[in-house]
Amino acid sequence: MKTIQKHFKLIVTSLFLLINVTLVAQNLPNIIVCATGGTIAGAGASSTGSAYTSGQVKIEAMIDAVPNIRKLANLKGEQTANVGSQDMSVSVWLTLANRINELLASKDVDGIVVTHGTDTQEETAYFLNLVIKSDKPVVLTGSMRPSTALSAEGPLNLYNAVAVAANPKAKGYGVMVVMNHEIHSAHNVKKMITTPVQTFQSPEEGMLGKVSFGDVQFFHKPHGLHTTSSKFSITGVKELRRVDIVYGCADMSTDLMDIMVKAGAKGIVIAGVGDGNMNAGTLEAIKKITKAGVPVVRASRVPIGTVLLKGEVNDEEYGSVSSMELNPQKARVLLMLALLNKPSRADLQKMFLEY
Ligand code: ASP
Repeated sequence: MKTIQKHFKLIVTSLFLLINVTLVAQNLPNIIVCATGGTIAGAGASSTGSAYTSGQVKIEAMIDAVPNIRKLANLKGEQTANVGSQDMSVSVWLTLANRINELLASKDVDGIVVTHGTDTQEETAYFLNLVIKSDKPVVLTGSMRPSTALSAEGPLNLYNAVAVAANPKAKGYGVMVVMNHEIHSAHNVKKMITTPVQTFQSPEEGMLGKVSFGDVQFFHKPHGLHTTSSKFSITGVKELRRVDIVYGCADMSTDLMDIMVKAGAKGIVIAGVGDGNMNAGTLEAIKKITKAGVPVVRASRVPIGTVLLKGEVNDEEYGSVSSMELNPQKARVLLMLALLNKPSRADLQKMFLEY
């Protein structure tokens, strides 16, 4: 019996050594996949029906479902959360960012992939872009079709995301979103269409590059300060201050900001009409609120373009600042981080110009 046990031990040890030697010989990068849920982990009853539930499939099963993905990198999965990204929260952002910072500080980790629902993926990507302290690649991906759907695109998106995170060329690009063969910067990427697979676009500056079945190509560097050049830090931060978004429209109600501030908002972003515009009553409300010390950022409900510093609205007169090309949901992220300190109006405008 003892001899059999000895032989068994020997065989297992040799196999283990063989596997290790093969991996080292291939010199594959070490990539950690942090999963948060979303449609990429979603499942439905029918492969042709549109109904499904996000966040059903665990990360190891997702990785195992992708052919040849372990030839790109040594992969380890971690389940950070498992939600539809409509339920993404500041608390998960902080947990995720702290964990990524911890992982990337290790010389044994070369890059991170985050699987995430697409609804708020641009917000998480932009948040991470401002608080991750490493130039190693961090790549978010997801899918528009659940894992059970006909032509589910999640497996190829995950394959391409790992290929980008594992590519030494991807260092220094800040946080990226990889979907549908395209590489986008956290700063520019926007969800533009409700359900088709080509939803993520960077309409102002274009995609950073392309990735086709693992073949990575970069065209240009991302815009704005990020990761190692960002001044924002979440070390010791347990929560962010509440910032609400007001949606502009014809004849908009002028008391919305007051209601939000009374409910606890410490900052307001306006998804204004056109060039970050709003009606006269709302402008007067902004004047009052900013005088009381609550910062107001003017963004636009129009999906593409920059909110001009000197357009129809004179920010100096009303105490507001322009979000520049950040859409309302990303402007909210930057304002929440800015509110970790007490920025003046000028400081805040500078941040929106730099980040
Ligand atoms: N509601 C889903 C989510 O954001 C949609 C998706 O992932 O495409 O989690």
